Amino acid sequence: MQEILTTRFAPSPTGYLHIGGLRTALYNYLYARKNKGKFLLRIEDTDLKRNSKEATEAILEAFKWCGLDYDGEVEYQSQRSEIYKKYIQKLLDEGKAYYCYMSKEELEELRQSQEAKKERQKYDGRYRDFKGTPPQGIAPVVRIKAPQNGEIIFKDGIKGRVEFKAEDILDDFIIARSDGSVTYNFCVVIDDALMGVSDVIRGDDHLSNTPKQIVLYEALGFKIPKFFHVAMIHGEDGKKLSKRHGATDVMEYKNMGILPQALLNFLVRLGWSHNDDEIFSLEDLRKLFDPHHISKGASSYNFKKLEWLNAHYIKTLPFEEINFQLKELGFDLSKVQKAGFLLDLLRERAKTLLDIINSAKSILEAPKSYDETAILKFVNDSNLNLLKNFANSLNAQNNAKEFEEFTSNFLEQNEAKLKDLAQPLRIALTGGAVSPSIFEVLEFLGVKECKERIQAFLKYKEK
Ligand code: GLU
Repeated sequence: MQEILTTRFAPSPTGYLHIGGLRTALYNYLYARKNKGKFLLRIEDTDLKRNSKEATEAILEAFKWCGLDYDGEVEYQSQRSEIYKKYIQKLLDEGKAYYCYMSKEELEELRQSQEAKKERQKYDGRYRDFKGTPPQGIAPVVRIKAPQNGEIIFKDGIKGRVEFKAEDILDDFIIARSDGSVTYNFCVVIDDALMGVSDVIRGDDHLSNTPKQIVLYEALGFKIPKFFHVAMIHGEDGKKLSKRHGATDVMEYKNMGILPQALLNFLVRLGWSHNDDEIFSLEDLRKLFDPHHISKGASSYNFKKLEWLNAHYIKTLPFEEINFQLKELGFDLSKVQKAGFLLDLLRERAKTLLDIINSAKSILEAPKSYDETAILKFVNDSNLNLLKNFANSLNAQNNAKEFEEFTSNFLEQNEAKLKDLAQPLRIALTGGAVSPSIFEVLEFLGVKECKERIQAFLKYKEK
């Protein structure tokens, strides 16, 4: 039977979904989809002290927002302890693992003597071939018999040949603790093997776990998956990405008015490229993505680039898609008359959905207050008078172009320039000095509403 290409994302639910995690998830998702394979989601929640239900929910919510779907049910490591125990027993029965009865004091003694000799801290294998009577009162741990010399070599899909010297990195490491719980590397191997994972794409912070995992695959007789270790995302200063560089929680981007299409496009390009292309829809990526083309070096986070992509998607996505995301932020444009026209007006300048919401509100609702700094800068007695005349002579026009013609005739007759009128008019209509084309706003609002808003502003200025 031909193996189905199977990838997985295996987050530990310790808080929220980090954008670096989302990039890893995306790479795994895309590789599976490209190959008509399977993409699994496994929650690594064995560390009961650090994991929470809320954190798991946050991960699922972020997946939903981004539109990443996974195959089958979500797997939880916390529900699989019986399976792990079975395999621990198997290794014990086969003599590939053993009980170690070292006491805390003995361990501490060993640590100190290695430290004094400036040796690498490692277990010295004293119970490896132990056949005697176990000491009383010590709950043993289980250790794997790891190779003590030679090399662990594997071909990483990104880094190429990776080599570890067994004596530098391995000892008979613990696979089950004295309370019976199993350790991290052991769960990962059992799960990946039993779930049929053929390709593991993950952050290169896991690179040092890989030789241990290979030892376990071999001891258990499982097929070793292909590994792709992706370099970390750095901030623009070259340091590991942290909150200092910008938001790291995926859902914070949602609240900032970033579209998931833009975030995914941004993340995929942090490390992966295809020609010199910058814009990739998820659909494109599902056809194109190949993890062998992920770059070896760290990639650099650049918020301006994300904003640029976001502006692109805001300009080009269909109304329904943008409105769906606006609704997620509590603003429903479809309830407004001429909603399509309004969105087209606003999306030309918007960098985020919050820009759209703010400008939409400033147009839809008559101003409750005015930007005083803009008034100081742009409004004086002479142009207030001009504005008053404009309101008096304004009459219905069919569209923005006709409003523009009407305005330029009006300005000619009054021997004035557009700059004398445009900003005071904008402030009167929207409360501030930033809005889309004023003629489009005139068309959108209609003459009656515009006159009312201008009168209200004149009144406010008379006070
Ligand atoms: N649970 C690990 C993490 O959140 C990932 C393990 C893996 O991908 O092998 O970093």
